Amino acid sequence: MVSDENTKYQQYLALREKILNCRKCDLWRNRTNAVPGEGDLNSIIMFIGEAPGRQEDIEGRPFVGPAGKLLTSLLESIGLRRELVYITNVVKCRPPGNRDPKPIEISSCAPYLNAEIKIIRPKLIVTLGRHSSSYIFSLAGMSISGISKIRGSLRKIRLFDFDVLVLPTYHPAAALYNPRLKDALQEDFKKIYNIVSQISEGSKGLIRGTKGRQSSLDEFFN
Ligand code: URA
Ligand code: SF4
Repeated sequence: MVSDENTKYQQYLALREKILNCRKCDLWRNRTNAVPGEGDLNSIIMFIGEAPGRQEDIEGRPFVGPAGKLLTSLLESIGLRRELVYITNVVKCRPPGNRDPKPIEISSCAPYLNAEIKIIRPKLIVTLGRHSSSYIFSLAGMSISGISKIRGSLRKIRLFDFDVLVLPTYHPAAALYNPRLKDALQEDFKKIYNIVSQISEGSKGLIRGTKGRQSSLDEFFN
């Protein structure tokens, strides 16, 4: 077991190193830092966003800007500490001006995400937004018809050599721009709570008590 975990960590460190030095697509030219995923390599749950924004590019860490603060609060609202999940993006370098990543950038960068998924082997993947959702479903040969149609519906798909539950939801940044999405996002996080409670009966302590946690979301939505 210990050696397994060492191997996982070694694989993660090697992958980080590759990402930090990568020049496979043109996004390296404008980056301050590439942004590998981070978190608990043994987590049963993985969150996948789109691409680093301004603050992520500066710090070299995923989801540390405004959308990241909302993601952290949403996690806390269901009693999940950020350090206990794994958080990453489809594309590891910031697209200039936060434009959408181009298909060529996604296809160049996707092997890193695939490698992260194979290291973590999560039981639940939460895809944040359209790009992340359509990439993950495409790995199972499925195409999606729009994030608002599929968000909140849980599917089991086969990824590489294992089965995983996938819950697509809105990107937290979208809810910051469009507060009408906030209820749906909160509802989906409650669903995450239920799913994780069910699958983590063996992994005690992942979900803490959630009493009094709502207040941390209020600053975003009131
Ligand atoms: N938006 C993303 O999709 N990812 C980040 O890391 C930050 C904002
Ligand atoms: Fe490499 Fe991905 Fe950055 Fe492109 S976005 S340079 S593929 S790490």
